Amino acid sequence: MRIAVTSFEVFPFAKTGGLADVTGSLPKQWRAMGHDPIVIMPMHRSIDRAKYNIRSTQKTLFVPMGDTTEFALLLETTIPGTDVPVYLIEHNDYFDRPGIYGNPEGYEDNDKRFIFFSRAVFEVCRALNFSPDIIMANDYHTALVMPFLQLQERRNALFHTTAGIYTIHNMGYQGISSLGNTLYWSGLTRSPYFRTEHIEAYGLANYMKVALFYADRITTVSPGYAHEIAYTEHGHGLNRFVQYRGRDFHGILNGVDYSEWNPETDARIYERYSPQTLRLKTRNKVGLLHEHYGLPAAEAEQDIPLLGMISRLTDQKGIDLVEAVIDAVMRNHDVRFTLLGSGERRHESFFRSLQHRWPGRAFVTIGYNDDLSHKVEAGADIFLMPSKFEPCGLNQMYSLKYGTVPVVRATGGLADTVTEWDPYTGTGNGFVFQPFDAGHFGWAIERALQAYRSPAAWKKIQLNGMLADHSAERSAAQYITLFEEAVEFYR
Ligand code: ADP
Repeated sequence: MRIAVTSFEVFPFAKTGGLADVTGSLPKQWRAMGHDPIVIMPMHRSIDRAKYNIRSTQKTLFVPMGDTTEFALLLETTIPGTDVPVYLIEHNDYFDRPGIYGNPEGYEDNDKRFIFFSRAVFEVCRALNFSPDIIMANDYHTALVMPFLQLQERRNALFHTTAGIYTIHNMGYQGISSLGNTLYWSGLTRSPYFRTEHIEAYGLANYMKVALFYADRITTVSPGYAHEIAYTEHGHGLNRFVQYRGRDFHGILNGVDYSEWNPETDARIYERYSPQTLRLKTRNKVGLLHEHYGLPAAEAEQDIPLLGMISRLTDQKGIDLVEAVIDAVMRNHDVRFTLLGSGERRHESFFRSLQHRWPGRAFVTIGYNDDLSHKVEAGADIFLMPSKFEPCGLNQMYSLKYGTVPVVRATGGLADTVTEWDPYTGTGNGFVFQPFDAGHFGWAIERALQAYRSPAAWKKIQLNGMLADHSAERSAAQYITLFEEAVEFYR
């Protein structure tokens, strides 16, 4: 199958979250299965041209915008270690900027940037004479690819039999912007089939909503989250539009790219280990505390449980709960805490001050650091993820693979992947709580610390997680089944 994946961020070129991990790994898997994927993304300023060997294709794109045409250059490379082509759209006005979405607030002209990119995707296919069986759009940034396909491109031979797949990675961000601007720049109203109510919500444009109308199939990143966005407040107002799509809507659990995230092969961690050599994991804790954070070796070598977190510091991730319990946990237990994250300023300053309140026990890095994130996964004993909502969540799956026992709230993909440890049956791979409050979270941490004191039980919990298969191969195969069903309609 010829599959065009469109995304505003793709690992390793540009990443702010799980979206990039998924759009970087699925095409690799599809290629390995014998399919023909290409990736299309913007050429952001932060992308390292030399490192990724990004070259010009010598092709110019002519992209309709409003009543005019804009120009862009088409660059190319491949996903490192594969022959999957990656096409990057170079347009300096829109993409040569310090941040992908904003700096740090969203750019005022994000609507134009998203419309431009979504329109340009078709020009890329034209320039390459690539007739996709599937165009996949991800989240609100590329949502307009779906109505553009159905309303503006369907009659062209190249896209006559192309099915549009829309994947929701997070329903909490829907792409709300000015309706007038969006209708003008997108040209959607030129189609007699388009109705403004398909994109309008409360007088504004809602990009996710319009994709729900025009995609052939809609997916989201876990079965649990699929249920939640159709039937609970996590649908953020779009529930009934999801429900309308009935059987066109599926939850496919994200998979882990084990070529990036595997303690047996991970070159970024201090010492590699496997289920058979689990005792070596502790050298990663010592490495993180001593070599990275400068704790004296004798202290770093003490057997004290290390609670870890890697997270965007936003309310979605349950940071308030962490802030509510962490001082009490530090006071009542002989534990250490480490956090890698960035986000809202009030959360950043809380964790900076936590580090000063608990010298030698709390280790905090505010910022984004791929390398350190691997070291935290390998070094921590317990991983905290008390999210308010979590479409899929990747870090709990990385944690399982690294024998770092997750403590999670039962929501979305967390509920699909982490189960409570049961000492009587020896089943379960972590600790789970349900009501979103500090008391239940604190109690789940207590249970984890109690289990940690029993080495045999702890090892069993770790192995239950490490031996489970959450590979991207599995999820890639599920997408292909769905793609085949979707293209059938146009054949
Ligand atoms: P989300 O996409 O909602 O942020 P996910 O758990 O799906 O959450 O994916 C987050 C991804 O971003 C993971 O790969 C995680 O390791 C990474 N990540 C988050 N914050 C940081 C950070 N400060 N430094 C490095 N990686 C981070």
